[in-house]
Amino acid sequence: MEKKTKFIFVTGGVLSSLGKGVAAASIGALMESHGLSISMQKIDPYLNVDPGTMSPFQHGEVFVTEDGAETDLDLGHYERFTSIQTTRDSNYTAGKIYWSIINKERRGDYLGKTVQVIPHVTDEIKAAIRKFYGKVDISIVEIGGTVGDIESLPFLEAIRQIGLEEGPSNVVYVHLTLVPFIPTSGELKTKPTQHSVRELRAIGIQPDFILCRSDRDLPQEIKAKIALFSNVREENVISARDVKTIYEIPLNFHREGLDEKILDKLNLPRNKPDLSKWEDFINRVNSLDEEVEITMVGKYVKLKDSYKSLNEALFHAGVANGVKVKQRWVEAEDVLEQGPEKLLGNSLAILVPGGFGERGIEGMIRAVQFARERKIPYFGICLGMQVATIEFARNVAGLKKANSEEFDEASPHKVLVLLPNLRGVYQMGGTMRLGAYKCQIKNPSFAYEAYGRNVIYERHRHRYEFNPEYEDLLQEKGLKITGLHPESGLVEIIENHDHPWFLGCQFHPEFKSTPFSPHPLFVAFVRAALRRKRGEI
Ligand code: GLN
Repeated sequence: MEKKTKFIFVTGGVLSSLGKGVAAASIGALMESHGLSISMQKIDPYLNVDPGTMSPFQHGEVFVTEDGAETDLDLGHYERFTSIQTTRDSNYTAGKIYWSIINKERRGDYLGKTVQVIPHVTDEIKAAIRKFYGKVDISIVEIGGTVGDIESLPFLEAIRQIGLEEGPSNVVYVHLTLVPFIPTSGELKTKPTQHSVRELRAIGIQPDFILCRSDRDLPQEIKAKIALFSNVREENVISARDVKTIYEIPLNFHREGLDEKILDKLNLPRNKPDLSKWEDFINRVNSLDEEVEITMVGKYVKLKDSYKSLNEALFHAGVANGVKVKQRWVEAEDVLEQGPEKLLGNSLAILVPGGFGERGIEGMIRAVQFARERKIPYFGICLGMQVATIEFARNVAGLKKANSEEFDEASPHKVLVLLPNLRGVYQMGGTMRLGAYKCQIKNPSFAYEAYGRNVIYERHRHRYEFNPEYEDLLQEKGLKITGLHPESGLVEIIENHDHPWFLGCQFHPEFKSTPFSPHPLFVAFVRAALRRKRGEI
């Protein structure tokens, strides 16, 4: 039977980076804890069709969905906090909306009409927001950007219209703002929140809840003041105080009664929510005392957001091992300039994450060599697997000029190549392998030891592949190929068994790690680091 889907819209004010995605994900987790089915969606007002072409410095990580969409990193939070699996319908941008409208216009679908922002763009946005209608109890929709941005206007207008169409008991508006503490006057300031809510109300949206991000819990008189100026009930002004880990947020919101108040507004029954898994996880986090340091050798080291899922996956794996994982980031180019001994000499474990382009590659190769020769646990993800292949080809198999086609088209030994004509793997016209692919794992291997099974599905985002022409030669020299895509025979995992733990995978395992289901490869890698710290390997 079709469900009567209700909506929760999450907007943000004052400034970006307040954690709107995590707030939306936390609301999703709470709704699920009441036994409700949900969908989660992010609508971004920028004009790129998707974030796939944006630099990680601009936009942070590109999150890849199971069905191969390149999306906003907030979808990663949705998957880590809730049980849903996002899809290409879970992320819309203004670019994607306009792309569809312009195509319709060219096809003549508008029957000679003038195509306008209202109603055509807003109708297209509403159709996107209604993608999950009838399929879930609650659709949670996060609007990117901050209220007041010119490009957000059609999106806010669309959610205003949905509120009117669906009626007040079917729609909740949640607005996240900042309540800064000014140390010189010793006060929490409500003015930015007042302005932001005024802006929202001017376009016809009266928020039902205000989540106030601040460094401390809001005293009642501050809540009262915000309520008065925002036309919001006092009990619906919710503290969203800074936390040690983002996984505390669902519990904090629950403590403020946010879930129950939302359900009341939506005329839905309150069930006794089961939040025990969150409590357990936080208790485990709070009891970690030992620390283990992982050395990360990468090229986007300056922006933490560019490796969001990776950071989370390492954190989850640390908790699974009962340790705090500390990351030490080393700029790949510096490894070449200053030498590996100085920068990597006392590493417990080395990880080279994904990346694109030539900068830093030779430094990464040096880091891999150092890890291999010194028997330091090594984990190479995507690009990290590719540089491990190059390193092995050069320094073990003696192919001195081995390289990837990406970095040296003239190399006589291209151990990584473009294989765009491989049927069933690369979509027509696309050169990027995206989304989940099956991988068959050989036993014995580090991979099998970690996963404990032969068949896995992992997500990809890359252009270059292990060159099948070099499989035999590199295996003769001792490289272990322990994971293959069964239909195409493409290499998915390489290992070095003359080593305590050395694994490179062509896919991105970090996208699938959650606090409650930490990823097996990360768990095994952190364990190897810990064992090295204890002198066991
Ligand atoms: N640049 C490499 C490729 O395109 C690796 C990509 C990645 O690490 N995601 O194949």
